[in-house]
Amino acid sequence: MIWRVQLGGTFCPSDILGGWGALSALSDHATRVGGRGSRIFLVSDRTVWALWKDEILGSFGAGTGMPAVHLVTPGEASKTVATVAECWNWLASEGARRDDVVVAVGGGVVGDLAGFAAATYLRGLGFWQVPTTLLAQVDSSVGGKVGINLPGGKNLVGAFYQPEVVVADQRLLDTLPAPEFASGLGEVVKYALLSGEPLLEKLERDTTAVMSRTPSAVSRLVEECVRLKAEVVQQDERDVGRRAILNLGHTVGHALERAAGFGRLSHGAAVGLGLLVTLSVSESICGLAPTVLPRVRVLLTRFALPTTIADIDAGEVLAAVGSDKKTDATGLGFVCLRELGDPVWGVRLEEAVLATHLEVVLT
Ligand code: NAD
Ligand code: ZN
Repeated sequence: MIWRVQLGGTFCPSDILGGWGALSALSDHATRVGGRGSRIFLVSDRTVWALWKDEILGSFGAGTGMPAVHLVTPGEASKTVATVAECWNWLASEGARRDDVVVAVGGGVVGDLAGFAAATYLRGLGFWQVPTTLLAQVDSSVGGKVGINLPGGKNLVGAFYQPEVVVADQRLLDTLPAPEFASGLGEVVKYALLSGEPLLEKLERDTTAVMSRTPSAVSRLVEECVRLKAEVVQQDERDVGRRAILNLGHTVGHALERAAGFGRLSHGAAVGLGLLVTLSVSESICGLAPTVLPRVRVLLTRFALPTTIADIDAGEVLAAVGSDKKTDATGLGFVCLRELGDPVWGVRLEEAVLATHLEVVLT
């Protein structure tokens, strides 16, 4: 069953197609592009390419010539100025033109990197995404944020550049290692809290099917998350207002990720812990019912995500929160929940108050 979500961007609408087998939709798009004489430039990482090369190339069909392919080393270390320069030079050496299309085939790293190369080379080529991780399917491929890291911090350089086409085939998730799948589920839990009781209940009901990656369950879940993210992004494409709600759990999550030391917590695991702290804060200052936090704790456990973390210093977490780019001089701009499905952003929070709530996850 193929689903479709359309996101009306300012410069370019995003046509998001998903479902088990959605890759088949690529051939029509490729034929359209090939028909006008444009070429396809694929960017992927070596792991994804080794696993899915034949499927991906096959799905472009006969409508275009053989796409040019550029591979990067898997992992966050590939989101650098040097790697994006390699992409630019590759596009130059291949003679890419403005009506050609860069297609990112991979997780959030490849999507952010290839998207930034596409946004900047010749001031913008065509850009499509084929997300291959759960995180990329529910989050990074939707909404048009692309970019790279600097030694001074993550995602410091970037652009808003909506992909014209996103093809999110859940079959690609079959080969995803369990920790990567769980990491994506951390974001899914965030969406359930933002969406409200029906999605949270559904997630609780479907845990077993989701964990065993049952096609219909995973596909429906990704669709719900994409619909929600697209709806939020559409209202605030440039991230100056309501889009902030997508950071639920992230201020603390990022800080835990940093304080724990690189690689100890996956992004989704850190977001899950951040959500627990956020729910505790929300109970005390926004009147959130105390029944939500225990439900989320159970859900995270069933999704193989941690609910506590040992050997982290609360002071270090607070320092990391303080240096997060989403804070400003007047205090912490925090996203809280008044009730399920009712987030509030820009909440000012004293550091001392946050310190007490960190105890929910620090052991
Ligand atoms: P990733 O791209 O590094 O992928 C994780 C690992 O999974 C890699 O080793 C990759 O090779 C492997 N992999 C990918 N697909 C696979 C598959 N189908 N089978 C087997 N292995 C596969 O990480 P990610 O979690 O997808 O993305 C994280 C990045 O996304 C971060 O850089 C983050 O900043 C970015 N991000 C961007 C946005 C946005 O809005 N642009 C939102 C959230 C996160
Ligand atoms: Zn996130």
